[in-house]
Amino acid sequence: MLHPKACPRCSGDLSLVQDIGESYLSCLQCGFVSYQLQGLPEPTLTGNR
Ligand SMILES: [Zn+2]
Repeated sequence: MLHPKACPRCSGDLSLVQDIGESYLSCLQCGFVSYQLQGLPEPTLTGNR
């Protein structure tokens, strides 16, 4: 999943990295890493009706 312009540091693109047992957001432009997945704008919500 990609979060365009969601990086708080450089307004770059955050990519959701899903590792074993954890998932985090990594910025493609500056390498910013965020483990706080909530609070970010999600383009696609599952189960949201
Ligand atoms: Zn960034």
